[in-house]
Amino acid sequence: MIGIVAVSHSARLGEAALELALQMVQGAGVRVQVAAGAGVDGDGRPILGTDAVAVAAAIDELAADCDGVLVLMDLGSAVLSAELALELRASDVPVRLVPAPFVEGLLAAVVSAAAGGGLDAVAAEATAALGAKTGQLGVPDDAAPSSDAESTDGSAAGGGGPVGEEIVRRVRVRNPLGIHARPAALIAEASAGADVRLRRLPDGPDAPAASLSRLLILGARQGDELELVARGPEADAVLDKLSALFDDGFGEGTDDAAPTAAAAGSESTGPRPDVPPTVIASGAVLKGRGVSPGRVAAPLVHLAPAVGEPEAGAVVASADRDAEVSAIEWAAVAVADQLRARTSQATGETRAILDASRLLASDPELVSEATALVRSKGRSAARAIWETAAAHEKAVAALGGRMAERVADIRDVRDRIIAEILQVDMPGVPEREEPFVLVATDLAPADTAALAGGHCVALVTEQGGPTSHTAIIARSLGLPAVVGATGAVGIPVGSTLLVDGGRGTVEVDPPASRVADAQAAATVVEFDGSGRLADGHRVALLANVGGAPDAVNAAAARAEGIGLFRTEFCFLDRTEAPTVEEQTTAYRGVLAAFPDRKVVVRTLDAGSDKPLPFANSDDEDNPALGVRGLRIARRRPELLADQLRALALAATAEPAEVEVMAPMVATVDEAREFADLARAAGISSVGIMIETPSAALLAAELFEVVDFVSLGTNDLAQYTLAADRLLSDLGDLNDPWQPAVLRLIGMVGAAGRAAGKPVGVCGEAGGDPALAPVLVGLGATSLSMTPRSLGRVAEALRDVTEDECRHAAEVVLQAATAEEARAVGAAALQRAAAR
Ligand code: PEP
Ligand code: MG
Repeated sequence: MIGIVAVSHSARLGEAALELALQMVQGAGVRVQVAAGAGVDGDGRPILGTDAVAVAAAIDELAADCDGVLVLMDLGSAVLSAELALELRASDVPVRLVPAPFVEGLLAAVVSAAAGGGLDAVAAEATAALGAKTGQLGVPDDAAPSSDAESTDGSAAGGGGPVGEEIVRRVRVRNPLGIHARPAALIAEASAGADVRLRRLPDGPDAPAASLSRLLILGARQGDELELVARGPEADAVLDKLSALFDDGFGEGTDDAAPTAAAAGSESTGPRPDVPPTVIASGAVLKGRGVSPGRVAAPLVHLAPAVGEPEAGAVVASADRDAEVSAIEWAAVAVADQLRARTSQATGETRAILDASRLLASDPELVSEATALVRSKGRSAARAIWETAAAHEKAVAALGGRMAERVADIRDVRDRIIAEILQVDMPGVPEREEPFVLVATDLAPADTAALAGGHCVALVTEQGGPTSHTAIIARSLGLPAVVGATGAVGIPVGSTLLVDGGRGTVEVDPPASRVADAQAAATVVEFDGSGRLADGHRVALLANVGGAPDAVNAAAARAEGIGLFRTEFCFLDRTEAPTVEEQTTAYRGVLAAFPDRKVVVRTLDAGSDKPLPFANSDDEDNPALGVRGLRIARRRPELLADQLRALALAATAEPAEVEVMAPMVATVDEAREFADLARAAGISSVGIMIETPSAALLAAELFEVVDFVSLGTNDLAQYTLAADRLLSDLGDLNDPWQPAVLRLIGMVGAAGRAAGKPVGVCGEAGGDPALAPVLVGLGATSLSMTPRSLGRVAEALRDVTEDECRHAAEVVLQAATAEEARAVGAAALQRAAAR
């Protein structure tokens, strides 16, 4: 890092120039010393002048942790003092005095230093800093650097120099003032990690992104289109950051009429074959993978990004500290108010959590410690809250046990207050009063869990596969969802999206008539509460749930019982294992919704796509093949023992017919040990999930040790096709219609019929109306699904007899491809329905 000394006759001028410069980089850890003025007179008035000793001291101060020091001077004797300081200083760090304009030079030098520029590069930037002004005023400027002048020491931003192929994108300047100093500084900062150049189209000048002065010379104004060319290992990520900055108008607001970067024909000619050129403008249609059916139209809302750690190096000037203090006070009050309002609408556990957070937000110590940091050390409001919260976290974490879990609450409140101070959305799912479509790169389990009961009406993500947790929760909440919609995060705020979760399409700003059609078509087929075939053969239609609220919904949708209770969804955020009492309460909430009905409880399926902090280690290279599901009991037998105990207690307390099954079983020994443990805990009906090819192949032997099995077709497809279920690119492989998966299901069904034991299907395949009759033909005795699908699956079954289902199963088993299986299955069932 290069340090900077600003030598001025006026202390006020020095401080003000520094304040201006640091705003460009939000501090960014840049080391700047101001050596200005010659003290104060007897009346306390500042004396104009410069002091060589003070300049030397400033250089020595920086020398301790800088690789070089650049000295900028305002005029006249400042230069003499700086020269003399070189004689007086004690350190031997390289020092460069530059003939740069004081204010512009300081800004340019600070930005260049923040981007990691070496002494030559920072000096060149400062010296050329008048270029923007002279260019703008039409005065020829000899000092403006040539396009190759930057980074003469090879250490400018991007460190490591250009490697790899060029990636090109186009962006449009959307903020009203164009590329002035602040946006230029943001561009320079964001370009660190790659060698990026910007060119104003069609034939304007070009500039390296790391050079503030050259960026200003671009003269880019609102509406101008720029080409970004990047090289280097992080080129793609850096271009993503830069595109986001342009799209956002650098936080200065945008002219919404101006199309976004993507709308302007964002283009990647570099090595991203998976990302086709994206054109997202009104009327555009993105194609992804529909994972939860339904059509709905609503305004788009982006998932708010995480609150980053506020800059540590910035020092707030004394005169501005009052404003920072009141920002903290106001933000804390506002957050406490928001939480109070939400608490009053919440119930049960959510209410307790919100109330605890509200108390934290109004904690006088948090506010007073943070404000003390502002006053004594000049921390920014956001930084002061960050540091204070960190100290509280540490103290609470040291207490251990349940208290340590409060760390998450402290962070939540910290992020809320900082978001309020910075006037940005709270990270995660935004709180809105109107219906909206949530758009994100991907969603974390906790994000998706936060959707319940809110105003989100559909989900669109760029990543994720058909059986990812995002897809599963979308289905359980009945939200239409499209995953793998590349380019979705580039759709501008303010657009209306029409999401078709069946076809996998996302239309941007569709015509009003199509919005009206979508609203009319958003109907759910009612289920009458009894699944049966045309000949009266019963096929129980059950629900998949993740907790008590889901179970209540499932009961309202007239599910015949629960075929899969994913217990891990009750504890997604826990850093410590829930106690037996807590578990008992959570399980009773689900059982209570289905008195005298079957409830199949799955023991914790933690890991891979559903990691639980208290159960999984995060150092596995390959978590989908790692210690997940039942395998966790190898390391943590007490977790399984506690869960079985809690289940047995819940089963005794509620009248539901409780069955228990283990996920991710591969061998007969695993199944036997699990069955022994569950029976010893007092649960009489014990099963396993068939999710691995091994378990499917061993189905006959497994039926000798368990009472039932349930086909987890999501994982069965993943492991059979060796295709990560979270990857949207592999969605075609994660398909239960794949012949290999169908044949394994057929083997399990045949083993079940031979043993006279139940074979359920609880993977997403069970809720597919086209596949349901085939599954019954293959031997499924019950199907479990999101409650929303019950009506349509029931309709599909009502059309066909058991013989017709078996015939459809026979023909699909002959198919060589998924496409063929779908076609012959559909033809067989259509003939049957038309009989
Ligand atoms: C499955 O794998 O099909 C299943 C139902 O379990 P999960 O989706 O929770 O892994
Ligand atoms: Mg599974």
